[in-house]
Amino acid sequence: MTKARTDPSVDPSRDDARSDTTIREVEPERPLVDVMNGKARWEIPVLDHGFVALVDVMPRLIPEGKTADTAVVQAARVSYGEGTKKVNEDRGLVRYLLRHRHTTPFEMIEFKFHVAMPIFVARQWIRHRTANVNEYSARYSIVPDRFYRPSVENVRRQSMTNRQGGDDSIEVGTAEEFIKLLEDSENLYSRYLELTEQGVAREMARAALPVSLYTEWYWKCDLHNLFHFLSLRMDSHAQQEIRVYADAMYDLIKPIVPVSAEAFEHYRLDGMFLTSLEVDALRENKPIDSDNKREQREWDEKRRRLGLD
Ligand SMILES: Cc1cc2nc3c(=O)[nH]c(=O)nc-3n(C[C@H](O)[C@H](O)[C@H](O)COP(=O)(O)OP(=O)(O)OC[C@H]3O[C@@H](n4cnc5c(N)ncnc54)[C@H](O)[C@@H]3O)c2cc1C
Repeated sequence: MTKARTDPSVDPSRDDARSDTTIREVEPERPLVDVMNGKARWEIPVLDHGFVALVDVMPRLIPEGKTADTAVVQAARVSYGEGTKKVNEDRGLVRYLLRHRHTTPFEMIEFKFHVAMPIFVARQWIRHRTANVNEYSARYSIVPDRFYRPSVENVRRQSMTNRQGGDDSIEVGTAEEFIKLLEDSENLYSRYLELTEQGVAREMARAALPVSLYTEWYWKCDLHNLFHFLSLRMDSHAQQEIRVYADAMYDLIKPIVPVSAEAFEHYRLDGMFLTSLEVDALRENKPIDSDNKREQREWDEKRRRLGLD
């Protein structure tokens, strides 16, 4: 039995326990256009054999004249259509949300990438747990013969200040010796092939291959978590070989979400976080109240960026 309803906007013929499965197809307010211009993928080559390709986006279709940023605005306002707000009000809202870490509207946009990268890069990348990943199976298939080999000038010397990093190039002779070592490890590939042909299981044979070998995966992530990934991996502290991938991914998404990307640059990427000790040092124009050398170096670096030294 249909219950009496007091809300005039509610159709009285609709029952709470409805079984009508009719789908109402709603026309868009404006024609929809493809954010990837009808292309199957947008691809950027990275390193010697790698690439990052953007293969899909949500929203893929957006109202003509808008950008995919519209999905952030739509979610934040929980609105149906485009609404009546002006473009600059939408921009202001996106910037406000990002500045104040209202993150969930940015999760409404998703990007799917197809990536080919060396295994040692993939190992760092996989630590980002908020993406959906599907990797090429070296149990199922023979892995292709592709290895990362830097050019002589890109072989870095171990940094003296940062145990995790390398900075300047090393002398040519040592760089060439290192590249020869990489070549030697690549020679294991022909033995890998021979032994798989003799029946050794692919899942075992792959254990003999070096981490310079390229792997591939599909990697899907929402914009909020992608910004988190990019802020860590586009940073100068990230290893150069993953940084070039992060830079390429940013180049791919920027034209699709230009408003969010600009806000990300202003409030995250090119911004700066100050600790309370740093704020005190700044306010009282005194050295930072910490005897930790690393913290002091970090404050020096921030002072340089602020133009105080
Ligand atoms: C320059 C650099 C150097 C690094 N060096 C090392 C190293 O030496 N050794 C090493 O092991 N790692 C290292 N890492 C990896 C680093 O510690 C993080 O694992 C990686 O950056 C992923 O960060 P995340 O957990 O914030 O990201 P994501 O996994 O993408 O997670 C995003 C956010 O979601 C939340 N989250 C996700 N999953 C969980 C969960 N299960 N529980 C609780 N919260 C969750 C957290 O708030 C997290 O910040 C390094 C990273 C960088 C950028």
